[in-house]
Parts: sequence; C-alpha cells; structure tokens
Amino acid sequence: MQTTKTKAIDCTHFIDGAYVQSNNGKAFENVNPATEEVLGTVAEGGKEEVDKAVCAARKALKGEWGNMPLKKRSNIIRKIGDLILERKEELAELESLDTGKPLWLSNKVDIDRAANNFYFFADYMTTVGTEAYQQDDIAIHYAVRRPVGVVGLINPWNLPLFLMTWKLAPALAAGNTAVMKPSEVTPMTATVLAEICKEAGVPDGVVNMVHGFGETGAALSSHEDVDAIAFTGETVTGTAIMKAAAPTLKKLSFELGGKNPNIIFADADLDDVIETTIKSSFINQGEVCLCGSRIYVERSAYDEFLERFAEKTKELKVGDPFDPNTNVGALVSEEHYNKVVSYLDIAKEEGGTFLTGGKPAEGFDKGFFVEPTIITGLGSDARCVREEIFGPVVTVVPFDTEEEVLEQVNDTHYGLSASLWTSDIKRATRFSGQIEAGMVWVNTWFLRDLRTPFGGMKRSGIGREGGAHSFDFYSELTNITLKM
Ligand code: NAD
Repeated sequence: MQTTKTKAIDCTHFIDGAYVQSNNGKAFENVNPATEEVLGTVAEGGKEEVDKAVCAARKALKGEWGNMPLKKRSNIIRKIGDLILERKEELAELESLDTGKPLWLSNKVDIDRAANNFYFFADYMTTVGTEAYQQDDIAIHYAVRRPVGVVGLINPWNLPLFLMTWKLAPALAAGNTAVMKPSEVTPMTATVLAEICKEAGVPDGVVNMVHGFGETGAALSSHEDVDAIAFTGETVTGTAIMKAAAPTLKKLSFELGGKNPNIIFADADLDDVIETTIKSSFINQGEVCLCGSRIYVERSAYDEFLERFAEKTKELKVGDPFDPNTNVGALVSEEHYNKVVSYLDIAKEEGGTFLTGGKPAEGFDKGFFVEPTIITGLGSDARCVREEIFGPVVTVVPFDTEEEVLEQVNDTHYGLSASLWTSDIKRATRFSGQIEAGMVWVNTWFLRDLRTPFGGMKRSGIGREGGAHSFDFYSELTNITLKM
C-alpha cells in the first residue's frame, strides 16, 4: 500500500568516521509497523563496538575538534542543520517507515525541528559566557567552561531524529564528542545523521553511533571512559542506567515517562480546548511524552466537552502513514501495540466505558493500528489513569473544585508536563504554580521556545534541557582565582 521515493536502508554502526558492521556479524531485522514488512537489517552492537566507539570519541577530543575555533565549530553545526533540510524528504520518509507516524507529521515536526536544534545551538554557543567576581582588592574569580568529554546519547523511538538532535546539537556546541545509541526500533534516521555530520565537516571520531538493544545502552552507561549519559526513555530504564552509571559517577540527564494531566475549567474557550485536546491526545498516535493522557473537566462543562471531543475524535482517520489524509498512523511495534491493547482490556476490567475506540482499528490485515480511544467512568486508582500507556488512549474525569482536581493532578509519581485551561488569570497563576510538573502550558500545549527549561520532576526526569540548561549539562566549569 505504501509508495515512497526513498528506499529503506540497512543500518550499521558509525565509528571513527566509517560505517561498520559488528565484529561478530550479528544483526537483527527492522520491521515496518504499518505493513509488518522487513525494512532491512540493523547491526547489533555489543561491548566491543561500544568500546571502539568510546575510544574513537576519546581520541577525537584531543584532536582538531578540541582545538577548533568557536566560529568554525558553530558553522559546522549550522551546516548539519542545512544538510538535514536538504535531505528532508528522504529523512521524513525514513522516519515514517520506521515509526508508522504520518509523513506530514515527520516533515512538519521531526525533520524541521531536528534542523532547528542545530541552528539554535549554533547561534547559542556563540553567546554563552560564564561568571566572574571581584572580591574587593583581594582576588578576581572567574569560571572557564570546558566540555564534559565523551557523552553517551541514548534515545527512544517516538521522535527519533528530533530527540537525538536535541542532545547531539548542544553536546557538539559545547565541544564534546559523542556516542549515539538510537532505539533499536527506529534506527534509520540516526544512521543518515552520522553521514550528514561527516559531510558537514565534523572530524572523524567526534560523532559515533552504536546500534543495538538495551544491552548496548547498558554497556555505554557503565563504560569507564564515558563522562556523561543523556537519556530519554522509560522511567524503569532510567533506574537501570542510574545503577549502571553509579560506579563511575557519570553526569546524568534523564527525560523520562509521563502521565500528564489536562485540566479544563468551565470558563475556558471550549473551541480552543477541543482543537488542542485532539492534538494533545492523539498526535503521533499518542506516542509523545508530553501527551495529555489524563483529562480533568469541570463538571458544568463535562457533558458538552465529552460530546464535542468524541465527535472530533471519531473524525480522525487512522491509516497509512503515507496517505496525506491520515491523522493517526501505526503504533511503533508489535510489542508496543500489544501493550496498548492490553490496557484497553484493563480499562474494561476496571469498569471503564469507551466513548470512542477501545479496540484495534478495523480494515487492516497487517500493521499495528489502534482506534483513538476515550475512556470515562474510571476512578483515580484505575491503572489506566495512573500508568503511562503511551498510545492513543485518554481518560476523562469530571471535577467540582480546584482543591479536588489539584489533589488528583499531583497524585502521581510522574511530573513531566500539564496543560491548564481557564480564562481566569488569577486562577491560572494560582493553579499553575501548584502543579508538580516541569512544564505547565496555560491555554495551549507543546508550545516550545528552545531557550526555556525542558524536563520533568519526580520520576519524570533529572535535570533540564534547553538553552543554558543544556549547556550546563554538557560543560564543566573550572573556577580560577587570581590573587591581586
Ligand atoms: P526505553 O526506555 O525502553 O528505551 C529507550 C532507549 O534506552 C532505547 O535506545 C533502548 O535500547 C535503551 N535501553 C533499554 N534498556 C537499557 C538499559 N538497561 N541501559 C541503557 N539503555 C537501555 O523507552 P522507549 O520505549 O524507547 O520510549 C518510550 C518512553 O520514552 C516513554 O516512557 C516516554 O514517556 C519516554 N519519553 C520521554 C521523553 C521526555 O522528554 N521526557 C521524550 C520522549 C519519550
């Protein structure tokens, strides 16, 4: 059913400026989640490949890269953005083949924003300073910034190129060398990115990549010669990485799971609410860490919200990622599809009612398609309200008072983001400050400015990314004191 101009690629590691297979020849199949066809093979790296990649990255730190003038490095980073846009069509098609997401979304979000990450940090790096203090006539203290060293970048499958570049761009801008470990489920765009970096003028060994499963990520996390790990993925994987990294006391940046609330007060503009809630619930098949999967609606607006939200949800077209009319594509893999479908069974057992969906999408012989699903009638203890499903599934719960909904909103181990809807500015300021989340959007969702802190609290993450926050993570400061 799919026609693409781009052919899927076989994925090999990228070490010291060259594509290489695993030494033992091990590889696994990459499957298209919309058709279940095999797209190609992926080299499966182990400890040996991780060692080689780390060694190349360590060597490159001392080479040309380590001494490169700021402006030259910035130009190379900008060039990576240019080359991503030059190859936009190819990258977008590879991303949709790998993930099952609609092609229009790959174009609009994944690839454009990936290029933008390099543009942003190419500019930002030329403005970054440090601090200096004069201590009376005794001394001057000033801090100098240097790279952390070799950084491991471990990523998930939901926004593969976008999230990899969100880490690689600031890592390079701050002068580090890197070993990327893309998700085993979506290896193709990172593989092309390595080539793009080389073409942009990044010296060999500065950007490396090892493909593989969790064991490959674990080898990177525990490696003696890796100075920092930036990880995006599941909370339980974060725990494993923290344990593996503990003996070598690596610097860690974690962007983890979420179960984000949308809180809708009756005085909000319901047209805006519906339009945005459709996106925050079902865009990218609900496979965005920031999706609002717990929706709380003030009781006086509850019936009207449900009626209009369900009506719009039923209009969403589930289908071929390469059909421009598709709103919701395929879930990323069979394993993930089984997980999402199992939560639909759990919702039934817990006494929930499906207002829409609640089952695999009909009309597909192959592929992992699930209907956009709205569940009502579940209490705050229900697993579907508490656990991250990471699919096109949301719960809707009515509330009566601010106090009551705040308690429910914060009654979770997660704390990534929230979306608050009200036209009362006093309530907006009062309420937003009490939500236990790293990011709160008021009357909007997923509106980003790359200078702002991005990340979660509680078990949704450690640290923040974005602007100065990324730079702080990817740098070390040395304070120098000059006695006068
Ligand atoms: P995952 O944790 O299963 O895998 C992420 C990466 O970690 C993969 O590359 C995987 O191979 C690797 N990995 C697995 N086990 C490892 C181990 N023991 N040591 C080192 N690396 C290991 O996550 P996923 O299923 O790919 O992605 C979905 C999750 O990502 C969701 O929980 C979602 O909320 C989260 N996510 C968070 C953000 C954010 O910004 N907070 C953004 C996107 C996705």
